[in-house]
Amino acid sequence: MAQTNELLRSLPSIAVLLEHNEVEEWLVGLPRSAVVEALRIAVDAARDAILAGDASDPIDPRDLLAHAENVLVDLGTPSLRRVINATGIVLHTGLGRAPLCDAAIEAIAEGAAGYCNLEYELDTGSRGSRIAHVSAEIAKLTGAEAGTVVNNNAAATLLILHALADGRETVVSRGHLIEIGGSYRLPDVMRAGGTILTEVGTTNRTRISDYERAINDRTAVLLNVHTSNYRIVGFTEETGIAAIAELAHHYNLLAVDDLGSGAMFDLTTLGLPDEPSVRASIAAGADLVCFSGDKLLGGPQCGIIAGRRECIERLHADPLMRTYRVGKMTLLALEATLRHYRDQNDAVEHIPALAMLAATTEELAGRAGALCEQLQAAMPDEHFFVCSDVAFAGGGAMPARELPTVVIQWRPARMSTESATSALRHADVPVIARVRDDAVCLDLRTIRRDDEEDLVESVASVGVADADEGDDGDTSLPVL
Ligand SMILES: *Cc1c(COP(=O)(O)O)cnc(C)c1O
Repeated sequence: MAQTNELLRSLPSIAVLLEHNEVEEWLVGLPRSAVVEALRIAVDAARDAILAGDASDPIDPRDLLAHAENVLVDLGTPSLRRVINATGIVLHTGLGRAPLCDAAIEAIAEGAAGYCNLEYELDTGSRGSRIAHVSAEIAKLTGAEAGTVVNNNAAATLLILHALADGRETVVSRGHLIEIGGSYRLPDVMRAGGTILTEVGTTNRTRISDYERAINDRTAVLLNVHTSNYRIVGFTEETGIAAIAELAHHYNLLAVDDLGSGAMFDLTTLGLPDEPSVRASIAAGADLVCFSGDKLLGGPQCGIIAGRRECIERLHADPLMRTYRVGKMTLLALEATLRHYRDQNDAVEHIPALAMLAATTEELAGRAGALCEQLQAAMPDEHFFVCSDVAFAGGGAMPARELPTVVIQWRPARMSTESATSALRHADVPVIARVRDDAVCLDLRTIRRDDEEDLVESVASVGVADADEGDDGDTSLPVL
């Protein structure tokens, strides 16, 4: 066993390491400061190991270079990365909800690279309104008088209550006091909006008479909430927005409908579970309807509000409006997404979230067969099977609604399903899969055609035993 001092003396200097051929190659593509920093981190780690008594042999410079290379790769890897969603959950909040349509991506790329008339009237050369680019389209598509947009639907709800019911009472059914993930609880949002919550009815049954009894001269709003993330089944009674709106108007109050996901047309025409549409809610008399831009609409994160002009104007006059302002990228993407809704078929064809939800099991099975063959060819020692399955495709939008789907099942020969799913998350292009029946399930509903090649590569990097162990020659360094 070598002495500590002897080991420390075996550590090469940074200057010596910089002369290695490998390092000279790194310097062709990377700034010298980054390379020096990575070498220093590797040498410091080796020194710490020696001092801690964890090293018994002289340091091999090749180990230092391998460590430095890993540091450089990490440094060049962004924290926010593309992943392949093989979970089958189309609107997965953890994976960024709706993938955008091509038109939205093109609009963002063009508008973000330069300037745009965000708040500028090209006709007059004067200051304009950023909301104006989408408000008319929101109104037209929903049948409302006016529309507006804020940062997300949570902000939309809070803004509405603040602008219309601050210091006054808002009546809500006990069956509607929802929590949706990420610390959003409706009673807390209402408190933050400054309105006083009046709960009526019971968890499973609320009648219009319950609402009526709660109304007094401090009441401002009757709030209806679409409980999209759970369902109460059995002995239930719901009042519905039409009756709530009629009651509200009888007492000169406002009816607000928080739809959450907000379908833009009747989804049952696509063979999907029934979701209340924004247009139906407006037609039923809601004064304001709010919903997310990145749920069933399939657009960018935002909160869309449609309704009576006078109410929308009150929202615009509220100081909170400015704090929930959306940026140009959101508006560019939203306008492009909304345009597709002028024609329902056009929307289903071009908006990825709708296309994924509408895909039939026959289509999915066809793609699964071909993909399964590719996986099998890349990994002859592993077994892949195409299976039908049932998944909660909606995620943030319809998580309580099951949809039939098609998956590729993989029971890894050499590792547990847990090790395999973990390794898939660490692949160059991470793959997020679900586990069922002790198999890794790759759900075709959310695997995009453009993902297929990388998916095969990522699975092969996990499934082919020790494919390139000890050979890091093909690790490509990032361009910093
Ligand atoms: C999803 C949802 C929200 C929150 O919407 P975000 O856009 O995520 O802020 C609010 N209310 C309901 C009913 C929802 O489903």
